[in-house]
Amino acid sequence: MTPTAEPDPFRFFDLSVVRTRRLGPSMVRVTFGGEALKDFAAGGRDQSLSLFLPQPGQDAPVVPVDAGDSSAVFAAWRALPDDVRAVMRSYTVREQRQDPNEVDIDFALHEDGGPACRWAAQAAPGHRVMVLGPAVADNTAVRCRPPEDTDWVLIWADETALPAAAAILEWLPAGMRARVWLEVPHAGDRLDLRTVADCHITWLVREEGAPSALEAVSAAELPEGTAYAWIAGESGSVKALRRHLVRERELDRRRVTFVGYWKRGVSEDGLREEAASSPAA
Ligand SMILES: Cc1cc2nc3c(=O)[nH]c(=O)nc-3n(C[C@H](O)[C@H](O)[C@H](O)COP(=O)(O)OP(=O)(O)OC[C@H]3O[C@@H](n4cnc5c(N)ncnc54)[C@H](O)[C@@H]3O)c2cc1C
Repeated sequence: MTPTAEPDPFRFFDLSVVRTRRLGPSMVRVTFGGEALKDFAAGGRDQSLSLFLPQPGQDAPVVPVDAGDSSAVFAAWRALPDDVRAVMRSYTVREQRQDPNEVDIDFALHEDGGPACRWAAQAAPGHRVMVLGPAVADNTAVRCRPPEDTDWVLIWADETALPAAAAILEWLPAGMRARVWLEVPHAGDRLDLRTVADCHITWLVREEGAPSALEAVSAAELPEGTAYAWIAGESGSVKALRRHLVRERELDRRRVTFVGYWKRGVSEDGLREEAASSPAA
């Protein structure tokens, strides 16, 4: 019998902007469509993807999709000159819908600029992107995985992780207790979130002088029982909060999913270079 190769869980998808909608002062929702989306299979929760954007002056991102499977394309993309190859950034699938096939990505607009932020601020129908995204719903880019015996869930997210936190809240089962802190720049960035979980949400609005993630969570009385924590956002805040949860609150470190979504003063390309040159790489 000939062994069959495992299907590649990630694939390149050629998409274009269908419409945009401002969700608040710091957030724009971009809705993408395209024939390719019939094979797109988001796993929900914090499903992330790699978004490839055109360089200034290009009308489509340069990604050598004919190079083979996703790893071969990725290698060929990396070999292109910096000013030619598409800009790559990580984003979250806020929602996938069928009939028509559409995917929403919510972009935080930040004062520090950055090519993805600038692209999103000016996105308009017809603008083209490429996405390296899921073709299989159960994939490794879904990181939020509370163990079966979880009694309650702790969530902290800043505006970059708000799309993921919102999708996680939609996914949590009815009655699951959740203690949630959501940090946003402005009062107008607060969103109405849908959930059937037994959820207590605290908005930390920076322009109102809200406490930091660490201060807010340290001061809180947490529920009894076995916890699972999901924390994502600026990497300094994520690190401090994880340390607090593991050291002071004595959460089992295996029950804390933490992801630095961005780092103050460093672009995503800079973060990839840091990771590649670290001793563990
Ligand atoms: C798994 C994952 C999922 C993500 N999902 C989302 C998502 O759904 N929505 C979303 O908006 N972001 C998301 N992010 C974060 C996003 O990838 C980063 O914010 C990214 O740096 C934005 O790219 P850029 O080109 O705008 O800025 P870059 O060129 O990467 O950075 C330029 C400068 O801007 C700063 N910067 C980056 N982001 C911010 C910010 N939010 N506020 C202030 N300064 C900033 C950097 O420190 C740097 O100094 C995700 C990240 C990861 C790892």
